[in-house]
Amino acid sequence: MNAPAKTDNAELIVPDGVYAETVLSVTHYTDRLFRFRMTRPAGFRFRSGEFAMIGLMVDGKPIYRAYSVASPSWDEELEFFSIKVPDGPLTQHLQKIQPGDKVLMRKKPTGTLVLDALTPGNRLYMFSTGTGIAPFASLIRDPETYEKFEEVILTHTCRDVAELKYGFDLVDEIRNHEFLAEVVGDKLKHYATVTREDYPFKGRITDLIENGKLFSDLGVPPLDPAVDRGMICGSAAMLKDTKALLEKAGLTEGANNKPAEFVIERAFVG
Ligand SMILES: Cc1cc2nc3c(=O)[nH]c(=O)nc-3n(C[C@H](O)[C@H](O)[C@H](O)COP(=O)(O)OP(=O)(O)OC[C@H]3O[C@@H](n4cnc5c(N)ncnc54)[C@H](O)[C@@H]3O)c2cc1C
Repeated sequence: MNAPAKTDNAELIVPDGVYAETVLSVTHYTDRLFRFRMTRPAGFRFRSGEFAMIGLMVDGKPIYRAYSVASPSWDEELEFFSIKVPDGPLTQHLQKIQPGDKVLMRKKPTGTLVLDALTPGNRLYMFSTGTGIAPFASLIRDPETYEKFEEVILTHTCRDVAELKYGFDLVDEIRNHEFLAEVVGDKLKHYATVTREDYPFKGRITDLIENGKLFSDLGVPPLDPAVDRGMICGSAAMLKDTKALLEKAGLTEGANNKPAEFVIERAFVG
């Protein structure tokens, strides 16, 4: 056991192999979504796009869930973008965290949504729904993404317009960032759509790929395995349908030990 870490209200015994980090800020977007930032332990290294197990002590027992690190690997702090599941074992508590509280994090990050798992290409598509934008929030803020690709297209589909705000804030932050603004230039394109509200860009991303509207809206040619690469993060159904469309276009799925033209990761289990 490590030394107990003091919190405001209780003494937290931190298990081996786990960090206890301090919450720095919390932003609530909707009654289903929030973002928080916390301290980053000096020894915690990860590749942009990976996920870690984070948790809280609940009734004396730790509860962990997989979370994509939403901040880039160079950032001194760690950022996460979270769902609030009303009866969710973790998020019914996590949604109440305040600055100064402690969040647990297991030491080993992992994941397939990393640049290393893709073969070289010109255009990188990041297809996300809901909190599936989190690994891409990391990658679009990593200069390496723009060294490897000439064009980066982030698609984000949610039910309602309010749920898109985190994505818009990210892109604004990049455009106003002292060094990212120059690195990113006009290489990043953000394509946000909703499925349940009126909005200029409406529909499921799979429909927009299939009917070609995604490409005509962006002014780019249809998917081409010679130049296009993809990353997908969403529900199991969204992964399955998007993967099928990429495969139909001739792209093959890769992994850390076998880089190829696209990679996928679930945004949640269920
Ligand atoms: C590789 C991976 C990365 C993940 N990254 C994130 C992340 O960055 N942010 C995040 O909020 N969650 C993420 N998740 C989901 C996360 O692990 C938890 O499921 C979520 O925090 C809810 O935890 P819970 O204990 O409250 O409820 P759980 O018991 O874990 O989930 C209850 C139910 O809520 C629904 N649900 C869970 N998570 C989500 C979600 N993110 N979006 C929509 N519905 C959901 C599912 O139907 C699930 O069956 C990730 C999951 C995986 C496998």
